[in-house]
Amino acid sequence: MNKFEQLGLNESLLKAILDLGFENPSEVQEKAIPLLLEKDTDMVALAQTGTGKTAAFGFPLIQKIDADNRNTQALVLSPTRELCLQITNELKNYSKYEKGINVVAVYGGASITEQAREIKRGAQIIVATPGRMQDMINRGLVNIKNIDYCVLDEADEMLNMGFYDDIVSILSDTPDEKSTWLFSATMPQEVARIAKQFMSEPVEITVGTKNSGSSTVSHEFYLVNARDRYEALKRLADANPDIFSVVFCRTKRDTQAIAEKLIEDGYSAAALHGDLSQAQRDGVMKSFRGRQIQMLVATDVAARGIDVDNVTHVVNYQLPDEIETYNHRSGRTGRAGKLGTSIVIVTKSELRKIYSIERIIKQKFEEKTIPSGIEICEIQLLHLANKIKDTEVDHEIDNYLPAINNVLEDLSKEELIKKMVSVEFNRFITYYKKNRDISAQSSGERRERGDSEPREFNNNGAVRYFVNIGSRDNFDWMSLKDYLKETLDLGRDDVFKVDVKEGFSFFNTDPEHTDKVMDILNNVQLEGRRINVEISKNDGGGRRDHNNRGGRRDSSKRDGNFAPRREGSGGGFRSDRNSSSRREGSSGGFRNDRNSSSREGGFRRNEGSSDRAPRRSESFGDSPKPRRPRRD
Ligand code: ADP
Ligand code: MG
Repeated sequence: MNKFEQLGLNESLLKAILDLGFENPSEVQEKAIPLLLEKDTDMVALAQTGTGKTAAFGFPLIQKIDADNRNTQALVLSPTRELCLQITNELKNYSKYEKGINVVAVYGGASITEQAREIKRGAQIIVATPGRMQDMINRGLVNIKNIDYCVLDEADEMLNMGFYDDIVSILSDTPDEKSTWLFSATMPQEVARIAKQFMSEPVEITVGTKNSGSSTVSHEFYLVNARDRYEALKRLADANPDIFSVVFCRTKRDTQAIAEKLIEDGYSAAALHGDLSQAQRDGVMKSFRGRQIQMLVATDVAARGIDVDNVTHVVNYQLPDEIETYNHRSGRTGRAGKLGTSIVIVTKSELRKIYSIERIIKQKFEEKTIPSGIEICEIQLLHLANKIKDTEVDHEIDNYLPAINNVLEDLSKEELIKKMVSVEFNRFITYYKKNRDISAQSSGERRERGDSEPREFNNNGAVRYFVNIGSRDNFDWMSLKDYLKETLDLGRDDVFKVDVKEGFSFFNTDPEHTDKVMDILNNVQLEGRRINVEISKNDGGGRRDHNNRGGRRDSSKRDGNFAPRREGSGGGFRSDRNSSSRREGSSGGFRNDRNSSSREGGFRRNEGSSDRAPRRSESFGDSPKPRRPRRD
């Protein structure tokens, strides 16, 4: 039995292969053919030019086509007329012992009516260039609404040649149930985008020289002011709701601090660094692999050897001291033929490092700008819409529907949608309005902090209190917040903007809680000392005045706990999400409430029509109880 026989190919094909003189299958053929024969599946196959990709899809295609059925069953898209003819010729060779299979080439520069006539005579397989194919569809000369197979051959070339829109349009004219096989030498962004949009859990095979970083990792940098680093990080996370990332910091201290800050702001993050015990590190890694952590903040040393597939982004929160280290970092993404992005948040003074790195990785960075509030709004809303669309209904809900219908019955579908989406949108737009200036952050035009700080720290009528306990009493902002919530029997979001100084602290509540705060707190003792709480004269905006150098010095004393207030607390839509399950005060901890099943990193259909398809609006749907935006 020869090797082609072992792949499961039938007699007539084996005979044709004999004629072709192929003795052994090439690697991509060996991998692809059995898989494609065995079941109807989507496939992404990455293999260099000249590795025999045509036969890798051609053999199974011929074997699977129903020769007795004259309808068009397969469409092969290929970038050029030459390739189109070549593939057509190959397929004809492969099928020469299979009676009744017709392969028709469709390409520009030749008579379209003649091509249409050939198709009419019955073409089970059409091999086409995207441009001409689109043309024929527009003129109603071809019907691909019922095809079973679609092959995108030399996908990267097709996209290089600017056929993206044609491909998208053509694919939209094909049935969802078909199998799509994508063959490409490289995997640039656009190919991944097509795969993601039009393929469903494709089997992926990669042959030959493993896709070196160059083809699977793209490199981007964002120029920001040093003080905006953290804000930039959050925005990038907000703009990539499906982010699954390793965030690199230079020191253990920064690693811990950024992780804590992210957690406080509602992201599923955790720290990984050498000060953690082995057991802690194992725990973090387990959660990361399990996708319960979306942002793993790590030092270079700790992240060495992290071998997790599907990491979508590597974020260089700070560049490494040794620029060679950059390669190790970016290699955490774009693994196993997947696509990845390596992001650098960079300040002007570090720009030259980018150029040095470019020389080392032999790739150019793309300079990008931090998404604006409105862009993030858009992404998050789309995410929400997709989430609603994809949400599976648990029929337990039926019990509650009558009551709910009662409330909503007067609303039209349009009104209902509008209102539903506004649940998120109102909050987003509020944030956006207050942060209008931030998108200019990379232009270096920011005012001094004291002038511009209030942003979302406007208290909207909140009451700010002074209390005579602080870091001297072993509080940090998280533990004080917990303490206040417990002592006052208030909800998670009722105490906010907790600002801990050495001997005193500030915090906010809504006015409705003022009586309670004053009554209770003024009557409790902390380790024998009476607590004294006063309403701060400084109408709640407080931070600006109190967050002075003295406060800064204090905050640095809080053994490792990061002062979350300064540049970092700039909000972001995340700041209130999932607060019901957030574990505050757990340093380096992580939330595991994320719908981990929704992300897989690979290429999936149903990610919505946008490749940015956001997925993270937990405040709608996941959250067991209604929440209010936190203000800190
Ligand atoms: P690719 O699509 O990867 O560029 P092709 O499918 O065009 O590669 O194949 C490249 C060349 O290799 C063609 O001339 C083809 O006939 C030949 N070829 C393909 N498979 C085999 C095989 N198993 N044994 C020998 N030659 C092969
Ligand atoms: Mg080819």
